[in-house]
Amino acid sequence: MLLLTLASHSSLQILHGAKREGFETGIVVNGKREGFYRRFSFIDNFYVYSSEDEAVEKINGTSNSVFVPHGSLIEYIGMERVSRIRTPIFGNRNLFPWESNQSKKMKLLELSNIKTPMKFENPEDVDRMVIVKLPGAKGGRGYFIGRNKQEVKEGIRRLQEKGLINNVEELIIQEYVIGIPMYFQFFYSPMLQRVEMTGIDIRYETNVDGLRRLPSDIKAEPTFVVAGNIPAVARESILPSVYEYAENFVKTTKNVVPPGAIGPFCLESIVTDTLDVVVFEFSGRIVAGTNLYVDGSPYSWLYWDEPMSVGRRIGREINLAIQKNRLNEVTT
Ligand code: ATP
Repeated sequence: MLLLTLASHSSLQILHGAKREGFETGIVVNGKREGFYRRFSFIDNFYVYSSEDEAVEKINGTSNSVFVPHGSLIEYIGMERVSRIRTPIFGNRNLFPWESNQSKKMKLLELSNIKTPMKFENPEDVDRMVIVKLPGAKGGRGYFIGRNKQEVKEGIRRLQEKGLINNVEELIIQEYVIGIPMYFQFFYSPMLQRVEMTGIDIRYETNVDGLRRLPSDIKAEPTFVVAGNIPAVARESILPSVYEYAENFVKTTKNVVPPGAIGPFCLESIVTDTLDVVVFEFSGRIVAGTNLYVDGSPYSWLYWDEPMSVGRRIGREINLAIQKNRLNEVTT
């Protein structure tokens, strides 16, 4: 069987893992990037495209294959085209529209009894420090902090002048939670019926993560553009509550977005100084922070006494499903 993904994001890890699990591998790649991906011997087949429509045709042209989605898929190809993919997709494709709609997204977290930051629909209602975010996976570009409603309105005007947004409703205005970020990566296995923690990461963002290098009298406004990821492990006493969050999330998605979460997901959180975990966002598929752990993380070793990246874990789940003749339970 062929495991297939779109070049970018976590594609190297996904295909490296698929190869380790014994699959034939394939990459759907824009012609401009083909040369880069040709360097890696674990990629067997290249499906080169020059337009997004062609990318979908190439995916649909494969047979006996499973397509593995990642965080760049919708951003690169667009939701409408992704809905035209007929090849079985690993995971729950019904979650994609929930992920790209901020209010539905936060609703799923709330229904799962997960603590989330307060949300403001209207800049006029802002009564505390907030973070203003642009929609879609923009890697933090354009985000800003507003200390009060005046700053929020001023910042929104600047975004409109730069043509970064069309209307205010697109923006996400969230209470800014003071603490440290931690991104808890999980994998729900329908085959083993359990939630595994696969790792923790922190996004390394410019310039906010560079500000502490400056002398204290130099003031610069923080920006949040993702440039990389840093590994983390959590104080063990935090783990039971985040596992509970993750298990609740799986249960909620089963009821609200059947067949529910399958495979990797991530709870993107701030841990406060009272060790409360506040989740400001989730990803319903593999996140780029898992690229830290191509040889396994401190957590994946607790389940698998062998190197187990999330890419490989996906391949392992598909293998388990094939053995049990239940592939339709891990694909949609
Ligand atoms: P992506 O959607 O691309 O995966 P992300 O998950 O990193 O992005 P964003 O919501 O884009 O998360 O947030 C980017 C940055 O802003 C992170 O550093 C995060 O810690 C910070 N941040 C986001 N929401 C809040 C919040 N409510 N309070 C404090 N910091 C926040």
